[in-house]
Amino acid sequence: MNDGAGRSITYLRLSVTDLCDLRCRYCMAEEGMEKRPHGALCSFEELQAFAAAAARLGVKKIRITGGEPLARRGITDLCAMLRAVPGVEELCLTTNGTRLAQLARPLREAGVDRLNISLDSLRPERYRAITRTGSLDTVLSGIRAAEDAGFENMKINCVLLGGINDDEIEDFVRLTLDKPWQVRFIELMPMGVCAAWPRERFLPAQAVLDRVPQLQAAGSSGVAKLYRLPGAAGTVGLIEPMSCAFCADCSRIRITADGKLKPCLHSDAELSLRGLTGAALEQAIRRGIAMKPQRHHLEETGRTETHRSMFEIGG
Ligand code: SAM
Ligand code: SF4
Repeated sequence: MNDGAGRSITYLRLSVTDLCDLRCRYCMAEEGMEKRPHGALCSFEELQAFAAAAARLGVKKIRITGGEPLARRGITDLCAMLRAVPGVEELCLTTNGTRLAQLARPLREAGVDRLNISLDSLRPERYRAITRTGSLDTVLSGIRAAEDAGFENMKINCVLLGGINDDEIEDFVRLTLDKPWQVRFIELMPMGVCAAWPRERFLPAQAVLDRVPQLQAAGSSGVAKLYRLPGAAGTVGLIEPMSCAFCADCSRIRITADGKLKPCLHSDAELSLRGLTGAALEQAIRRGIAMKPQRHHLEETGRTETHRSMFEIGG
């Protein structure tokens, strides 16, 4: 269905947990997320019911996210349940990759169509420093396992962290020479723990083009502006949420792991879906879509209007 601004809503981002096995410094505090009491997270049946109601209203693509979605027990069963929802044409998943070495094949078998893997450094010590607990080798093995399992068109997400990983832009771009991946540079958004970081940490994605002037424009894909090195197998995607460039075409709604519909990532508006079924659930999602704000105000105010952190919403 269309929202109040006439945008067609076809894409649901579904968070399945707010827990994570990493502690990326821009996303989570060192102590992580307090474990919620049993039942605070939606059950697989509830998540499937939300997805089915959203699909009846026109959602065709679902992205599973978190926290770390692969940390949720039984995640491959949930993927199979969501892939079986009538009307869902594409099931994608965003992961930090730490468990992909074991889970890539079962995820593929469960019907996951595409993976986005987050990777903010190609240097082992720096990767560890950014994630506080992660191992680069583990994620690289996970990426290889995903390739072996038959995942194509993988996206590698790198958040640009000024003064921390921007000296690796060329290295990330170079990955696309041989690999048919979309390596995406994402502007850091001032949310949660990084909201008070100094300005120099927040780099415009334009920095990628300044560093690698050989990149040639290659159209767009969803919210990413695409570029390619001459002769490269893959592409480079620039994602510029700060400038509001994609609000006008936003096709997304989000549901948090505790069952709140969020019409916009940066708005505090939420609508609880828990306990609703059938027509009442569909009606609530309709209401949420209708109240989707026209745009966010990150660039003017430098602040998000949501009280939630990224790991609670899922990006
Ligand atoms: N744990 C999974 C992962 O890291 O891919 C999925 C959830 S994570 C919140 C989704 C994406 O949001 C990741 O690519 C992460 O780097 C990105 N992210 C987290 N905080 C961000 C922020 N403040 N600005 C921009 N991207 C952010
Ligand atoms: Fe976890 Fe993803 Fe947040 Fe990193 S970005 S702490 S992997 S939820």
